[in-house]
Amino acid sequence: MASYQWHQLTIPEVAQQVGSDLSQGLNPEIVQQRQQTEGFNEFQAKKGKSALLRFLQKFNQPLIYILLIAGLITLLLKDWVDAGVILGVTVINAVIGFIQESKAEKAIASLAQSLTTEATVIRGGQKILLNSRELVRGDLVLLQSGDRVPADLRLVKVRDLQVSEAALTGESLPVIKTEESLTGDKVLGDRTNMAYAGSFVTFGQARGLVVAIAEQTETGRISQLLKTTVELETPLTRKIQQFSKTLLYIILGFATFTFVVALGQGKAEAFKAAVALAVSAIPEGLPAVVTVTLAIGVEKMAQRHAIIRKLPAVETLGSTTVICSDKTGTLTENQMTVQAIYAGDHYYEVTGVGYEGAGEILSQQQPIELENHPPLRDCLSCGLLCNDSKLQIEEGQWDVVGDPTEGALIVAASKGSLTFSQLDSAYPRLDTLPFESQYQYMATLHSELENPDLQRVYVKGSMEAILQRCGFQLNEQGQTVPLDPQKIEQITHEMAAKGLRVLAFAQGELTETLEKIDHAHIAENLIFLGLQGMIDPPRQEAIAAIQACQRAGIQVKMITGDHALTATAIAQQLGLNSNTPALKGLELSRLNDQELAPLVTETSVFARVAPEQKLRLVEALQKNGEIVAMTGDGVNDAPALKQADIGVAMGITGTEVAKEAADMILTDDNFAAIASAVEEGRTVYDNLLKTISFILPVNGGEGLTILVGIVVFSNLPILPVQILWVNMVSSVALSATLAFESKSPQTMERPPYPPRQPLLSRKLLWRVGIISLFNVLAVLGMFEFILQETNNLVLARTMAVHTLVAAETFYLLTISQCVPSLWNWIGDRTQAIAYVPLIGIGCVLLLQIVFSQISWINPLFATQPLSLLQALFCIGVGIFVIIPSLGLLSLSKNFP
Ligand code: ADP
Ligand code: MG
Repeated sequence: MASYQWHQLTIPEVAQQVGSDLSQGLNPEIVQQRQQTEGFNEFQAKKGKSALLRFLQKFNQPLIYILLIAGLITLLLKDWVDAGVILGVTVINAVIGFIQESKAEKAIASLAQSLTTEATVIRGGQKILLNSRELVRGDLVLLQSGDRVPADLRLVKVRDLQVSEAALTGESLPVIKTEESLTGDKVLGDRTNMAYAGSFVTFGQARGLVVAIAEQTETGRISQLLKTTVELETPLTRKIQQFSKTLLYIILGFATFTFVVALGQGKAEAFKAAVALAVSAIPEGLPAVVTVTLAIGVEKMAQRHAIIRKLPAVETLGSTTVICSDKTGTLTENQMTVQAIYAGDHYYEVTGVGYEGAGEILSQQQPIELENHPPLRDCLSCGLLCNDSKLQIEEGQWDVVGDPTEGALIVAASKGSLTFSQLDSAYPRLDTLPFESQYQYMATLHSELENPDLQRVYVKGSMEAILQRCGFQLNEQGQTVPLDPQKIEQITHEMAAKGLRVLAFAQGELTETLEKIDHAHIAENLIFLGLQGMIDPPRQEAIAAIQACQRAGIQVKMITGDHALTATAIAQQLGLNSNTPALKGLELSRLNDQELAPLVTETSVFARVAPEQKLRLVEALQKNGEIVAMTGDGVNDAPALKQADIGVAMGITGTEVAKEAADMILTDDNFAAIASAVEEGRTVYDNLLKTISFILPVNGGEGLTILVGIVVFSNLPILPVQILWVNMVSSVALSATLAFESKSPQTMERPPYPPRQPLLSRKLLWRVGIISLFNVLAVLGMFEFILQETNNLVLARTMAVHTLVAAETFYLLTISQCVPSLWNWIGDRTQAIAYVPLIGIGCVLLLQIVFSQISWINPLFATQPLSLLQALFCIGVGIFVIIPSLGLLSLSKNFP
């Protein structure tokens, strides 16, 4: 059926058309049939650029142009070997780049795919959660705020539904939806009884019938919307591109200069010299190495439960200075157990831990009989009825399906021998106002089986939210008396100061009969039933991770909707100490920006914060020059996640909206994963610096050698083919190992990288310059010395190349983790050795033997075999690179 008619049909017509039932949904057999005949609700991966095109693009780099031109001219000069090698190098370079980048792309794409969208449907009368891929036409889907709409739906029941259709219509404001049939032709944005795949529910709930899946959805039609290719570009790779362009001009300038000088000297080889210079100074491998290093970082982070959604985040993580984290579930276990109850002006203790249900309710150390404590009974009943979660046994362990806070309430009620099924049949639920962080309460509407005229509401939420709405409370006998708010506040504070998360409970009796409840119905005159305080122990890993962050110069801040005292108590247990008291949301809203600026940096606990205020906190921190990572899970967290330098969404409890807005997703919702990601981010940054400071001096050294060789000594110390050998074979084998460098023990012992520090900092350029200079001296010195002594040009060049590679190898050892890790291993045999560089060095050794010691290779590279003494002489000169490199390292604590 054509898509434009769905909105005109009445609800029963739609149900009939798609062959579904409005209360039971589809039955499982039909689902299976439809999945077989109509396929799954997923897009066929759109073909990106063809592999050939992507391969050819690898030649589309400024630095490669020089090589191509040099190769072509060498061809014209009929210098077959050189031309072959030069052009061969461009091809090898393209192949390596292509393979590496495809791998990186695949790795990142498969991570993205592991983030599936889930959908809640009713099938055969049962509510089930499934992968949205499983949906078929006719499925009855439940939507709630935070969900991504999984297929095109005709809405059949709507409660305050608002949907953001920005991706589809470009309209940035959410659209209010209804269930009413519409007449006439309507454009997409005006079909208010439809919810389209790919849009997001920003508010309310609804039910809808699936009318189109996969490619038949409106999103499917606008195929440009389908993101199938992975972006491998980041600020850093762009900088490298920029840098390559600058380098191109510099190299061309020098090459021309060399050409002119050599021509002036009347050399027939003038052109060869220019080509040698150009070829030597080009760091061909650099762009690919950067991408690969980033991709390896992404994979390592995924292993440590942090999935990167946007590649640039890997870079930013290294300079993060502040992490703002949720409390519940991220810093704490989210394993709630009710420990204290206050009801009817009476204290109760609850024993036992976890969801097992073993334990009792005690009053003055004695187990109680519930009949004798009517207010306690009401308080527990409210916790059980105003509750959307369930306990379920899985592999012999009780676990909560839903919100652990609610799970704890179910367990507490069962310790008082109340069960849900009993209560639910006596007081069936008619309607729900679900919990939203910004309201801080949840309410349910119930009828009474024995007294159908009477309806009641149960409300639970934060003490502040509940007390505002109460006028009465229950006394010890269960009679209704006027409210004593001071006393209740005081008790709440006492519980919270012990680190308990406190929920308040209330009920209301309605005289009119309602079908739906609204916030207005429970605005006042409720009867306060009691408080339940639960513990949520801090995560042990979080304590360690916070310490690690603090040593690493990263501030950790707790942002929570919970009570200030509870938050402060937990913060203390976590080691988040601060001299500044917790800042409450209400106080926050009264501060102006100038007042907030100093406070936001000093304070480490923010309590009773509404999600909207997170945005303000991020902005204030950023104004103070901080690089901010911010966690979030709800719809209202999305703006803050977007604004933060690193938006972090929760993989388990997070809504689709939050995940969409985030740069990074924690698969285990655990704070420790953020700290690990920062550590990996810093390692990536370190490795990039190392790689750059490794590759550039090789090119710089070669380029200068040729320049000085031609201008001063009027000789080519190294030939173009030999240079290409060094650049493409030895350097690649060595530099590739740097991408795999493991983290150094100091990674988290030093302050973050200064925000927006240029990658090619002055320090790095100094290092590149000095090591280049060393290489020139070593290579040119070796060449001239051997030439003087033996008058054998081929031998001199061969030894010059070996000296350069030896220097490179020792240089690698000074900057890699390999030697320190070996050192540690000698002291403590359980330590791991960073062995990857050793593999690289082994390869290089073999390659260099091939280069000069094999007779049929000799003519290809114009080399000759060395004696053992000559080889040792090259190594002996090369080893001196250790002095400048370690000298530079000792000058500064940080690399480079
Ligand atoms: P947190 O930062 O601890 O996750 P929330 O925003 O989830 O904070 O909760 C804030 C307050 O709302 C809690 O202190 C509690 O009083 C109340 N609350 C939390 N969960 C629920 C729920 N499921 N039903 C009712 N009230 C809740
Ligand atoms: Mg919460």
